[in-house]
Amino acid sequence: MTAPMLPSYVAGRWYTAPDEGAPIADAVTGETVVRVSSAGLDVPGMLDHARSVGGPALRELTFHQRAALLKQLGLRLMAEKDAFYALSRRTGCTDRDTAVDVDGGFGTLLSYASKARRELPDDTVVLDGAPEPLGRGGTFLGQHLYTPLRGVAVQVNAFNFPVWGFLEKFAPAFIAGVPTVVKPGSQTAYLTEAVVRSIVDSGLLPEGSVQLLAGSAAGVLDGLAGQDLVFFTGSASTARKLRSHPAVVANSVRFNAEADSLNCAVLGPDATPDTPEFGLFVDQLVTEMTVKAGQKCTAIRRALVPRELADDVVEATRAKLAEVVVGAPGAEGVTMGALASLDQRQEVLRAVKALRGVADLVAGDPDDFSVVGADRDRGAFLPPMLLRCDDLSAGEPHDVEAFGPVSTVLPYDGVAHAVELAARGQGSLVGSIVTHDPAVAREFVLGAAHAHGRVLVLDRDDAGENTGHGSPLPVLVHGGPGRAGGGEELGGIRGVLHHMQRTAVQGSPDMLTTIGRRWVTGAARTDDGVHPFRKSLAELRIGDSVTAGPRAVTLADIEHFAEFTGDTFYAHMDEAAAAANPLFGGRVAHGYLIVSWAAGLFVDPDPGPVLANYGVDNLRFLTPVKPGAELTVTLTAKQITPRGGADHGEVRWDAVVVDGDGQPVATYDVLTMVAKTWAPAADPS
Ligand code: NDP
Repeated sequence: MTAPMLPSYVAGRWYTAPDEGAPIADAVTGETVVRVSSAGLDVPGMLDHARSVGGPALRELTFHQRAALLKQLGLRLMAEKDAFYALSRRTGCTDRDTAVDVDGGFGTLLSYASKARRELPDDTVVLDGAPEPLGRGGTFLGQHLYTPLRGVAVQVNAFNFPVWGFLEKFAPAFIAGVPTVVKPGSQTAYLTEAVVRSIVDSGLLPEGSVQLLAGSAAGVLDGLAGQDLVFFTGSASTARKLRSHPAVVANSVRFNAEADSLNCAVLGPDATPDTPEFGLFVDQLVTEMTVKAGQKCTAIRRALVPRELADDVVEATRAKLAEVVVGAPGAEGVTMGALASLDQRQEVLRAVKALRGVADLVAGDPDDFSVVGADRDRGAFLPPMLLRCDDLSAGEPHDVEAFGPVSTVLPYDGVAHAVELAARGQGSLVGSIVTHDPAVAREFVLGAAHAHGRVLVLDRDDAGENTGHGSPLPVLVHGGPGRAGGGEELGGIRGVLHHMQRTAVQGSPDMLTTIGRRWVTGAARTDDGVHPFRKSLAELRIGDSVTAGPRAVTLADIEHFAEFTGDTFYAHMDEAAAAANPLFGGRVAHGYLIVSWAAGLFVDPDPGPVLANYGVDNLRFLTPVKPGAELTVTLTAKQITPRGGADHGEVRWDAVVVDGDGQPVATYDVLTMVAKTWAPAADPS
């Protein structure tokens, strides 16, 4: 029986290529799982569907609405994950490997949903920073803002993370409001297809948000234009090819690449075998060599160790590797599965051969190892292999990426030397230093950061919560300079903004307030006689304000506050010392007294829609306040953010306290929780 053809999801329909396609083998048994082909697929129609159906539907939604959909989707996929686990075994993955891919992917959806709800407004525009004053009179300002690109994000993914690789790119694009076309690595595309199918079947996302191109890329880059983006993960040579594609070059298509990376882990000079750090280093090295059979772009390829500890590291690592059981995922006792394909196995063997030209193989023999629960030759199995290279002039350990369970131990002499060796990777996704010496950590991090997208400092204090050298996190950036592709993904909202255009908008305070839905100093205020604390979110408008005061400042007040709080700092209590202070020239009121007075002035005390004050932002004391001054405060509704799924939301208020001359003495934002609606209790009289 011929294996089924893997369909693509194009313009709202599943498409099956009519030809024979290419067979994709089960990594463990060698049986054909599916065939793949993109023959006859309407690529221009796919791009057009994304731009004309997916994009507009997504842009109709606010960030919070998109976040709510992403959360529902993440939860639904999590609930279905057993089916993905079963399929993932066919790619050679143990359940531990699959957790990184499947749970990691779904977790990324949930992380983005949560970040977007907390850090983005319930709007379709993101403001970038504060307004920049551009004129002396305050009538002309600039505001940077982000809006979504109106094209399509094309993902071209590697075979090693069929789920996470897709979703870590999809989540930020979706939150940004940009539709996705995913072209998975063919070898494991059937797992990506299963997830896309589940997404489509859920009916949760607007049509056109995501499409699947199974099979060869079929010229998908030919049709790209200036609003489109490419996110690539794979080999450096393919990255080069795609980056220089005529359409990409001609139309300045944003191109993000993650390519080869010879990541290093450094054992600190202090981490001798009697320290916890030594054990942590060896455990981490073995984990990174064996999870996903080392097929991770973040795996440790180079273990840099103090020369005098090299023998100890090799011995300890060899002992741990001897415990690894290679075999069919799910079979009794198996701790490391297969590579994704026989071709990959060949690639790794070729790379190991090149490394063996300059290094000794000190653990693992590709010609002599046992496999549990599967045929060693039909499946893409390899043992974990450790090399040791004492020839530091050799380039291979820094240049040859064996994309499998392979790592090379290299000795170094002094931290500066470790930094130099780390940089010989010519740009890496991640590096780690295992040390309990803060001076060593600083020297390494500051020396090597320029060549890395992420650096892990591991020691006994953070080991318990350490998320792992090889695990990119949705909240941290993922990418690296140079050989690693020069790209950057994830990093929380940073990853969303990669899909948006930053524009500097110039205008008056009123214009900028309306455009950005954030009140700008100098814009109109409304005081309609109703205290804004009496207004629920349904009634409150940006610009609603109250002005209260004046309140006279007396020395008795200052002394009372000092005694009451215990803050008897000399500037408030010691006339002679305060007079000698070059900034004050006499006793001044406490800053916190000014803020407290301001609250006493602007607050409306009765029960009402304002539920809580949860902090202040950007508090600045601008002018010293001396006894005799008179203070007035103006509070203005600056930004209103209803919370999805809750009966309240956040209101950010602009607060400015001025003295009798109208000089600002304090400025800050007050943050409150306000009910969406509020019915005043019936008057008991
Ligand atoms: P490739 O670069 O060969 O493929 C990556 C993706 O690009 C796949 O989806 C592939 O499709 C596609 N592709 C290949 N050629 C073209 C083309 N001319 N036009 C458009 N798309 C194309 O990488 P692999 O995934 O096969 O992995 C090969 C090696 O890359 C690994 O052995 C490893 O060394 C390195 N790698 C590095 C990673 C990193 O981030 N550091 C991650 C993964 C791999 P198809 O599968 O259909 O060929």
